[in-house]
Amino acid sequence: MRVVVLEAKGVCRQASGVNAGTLSIQVKEAALIPYAMRSSELWESASEWLGVDVGFRRLGGLTLAFTDDEAEMLKERMMERQAAGAPIEFVGLNRARQIEPALSHHPVLASYCPLDGYSDSTRVGKAYCSALLKNGVDLRENTPVTGVDRDGAGFAVETTGGVVKARRVLLAGGLWLCDILAWFGFRLPAECRINQVSVTARMGPTLRTIVGVANGFLSLKQVANGTVLIGGGWQGIGDLEQGGVEVVPGNLTANIRLAQYAVPAMAGARVVRTWLGVEGHSENYVPLVGPLPGVEGAYVLGLVRGGYTIGPIVGKLLADAILGHQLELPLFDPAKALRPMTQP
Ligand SMILES: Cc1cc2nc3c(=O)[nH]c(=O)nc-3n(C[C@H](O)[C@H](O)[C@H](O)COP(=O)(O)OP(=O)(O)OC[C@H]3O[C@@H](n4cnc5c(N)ncnc54)[C@H](O)[C@@H]3O)c2cc1C
Repeated sequence: MRVVVLEAKGVCRQASGVNAGTLSIQVKEAALIPYAMRSSELWESASEWLGVDVGFRRLGGLTLAFTDDEAEMLKERMMERQAAGAPIEFVGLNRARQIEPALSHHPVLASYCPLDGYSDSTRVGKAYCSALLKNGVDLRENTPVTGVDRDGAGFAVETTGGVVKARRVLLAGGLWLCDILAWFGFRLPAECRINQVSVTARMGPTLRTIVGVANGFLSLKQVANGTVLIGGGWQGIGDLEQGGVEVVPGNLTANIRLAQYAVPAMAGARVVRTWLGVEGHSENYVPLVGPLPGVEGAYVLGLVRGGYTIGPIVGKLLADAILGHQLELPLFDPAKALRPMTQP
């Protein structure tokens, strides 16, 4: 197939290039566990299929519960994920502190998944661009798509740089799918989130693992260059049009306080930068990975929660579906997330 990639800005300038890089299996919803596990293997072998090492490290991860209520919630969620195939074990404080000596004495229970890891999301855009160009893809950055019309058996894709004719279209516009799918008469109810991530100056060896908390409000890891990334989905100010505009000071300090509560050595960290990125999820968190209902030749891929982790496998699955190959895992029917434009 001849492939054209039409990207409004630059490849991986939005969520896929500004995320926290955590490739955690245990934080994924049970339905996504097989996808996260397979994707983690793909990230590990990125230098083979993407042609570049994107800094994958499998450190193992701990999710901490600080109260009995949190411990109950942790057990319930992690048991569902164990049942879906994730190798997760429950550990008490002593064992958790053997795995991660930097932990405070506050956790009452933790879950541990040895498969959790991370890769460097800042390297991924460049890696994908090189791979696309090397494989003969016509990559057009700074080329927003402004509309898609039927054109015989295919499509006429309108862009700011002219019309592109295509037999098939794959709509992979992140949260902007809400606008894109409206061209096809669909309403996509979705929530826009403006996620915050911070990075510290380089620290001495501080963390061995990826540390999270049961309520999801922390992800903490020390990457290869010694800096520590602090995430957890705290919200900033922004919108789809402008992206992340402003950090909310209370959310920044709460994120950092929580990091210190989990790992006391973080009190000595110096935060050098905080940034925001746009992420979204559909109503009921249903991902869209499959054919667009009723529109022959159109496919959609987006709103996969933890989409940095799961991106490689869902991309491969959809490519296999388009090529008519056997699928190693099922797709997620976009129809479950879509409504007709006329329906509120
Ligand atoms: C700050 C932050 C931290 C995160 N941390 C993690 C994490 O640690 N681990 C994890 O697994 N996930 C994480 N995520 C989630 C993850 O990054 C996303 O789920 C994933 O990157 C979404 O990929 P996407 O390709 O669907 O969307 P995006 O990466 O947003 O890409 C959509 C692309 O579509 C383009 N586009 C939009 N409209 C048009 C148009 N009309 N024409 C042409 N192009 C268009 C945009 O320019 C953009 O490049 C995080 C997200 C954020 C924002």
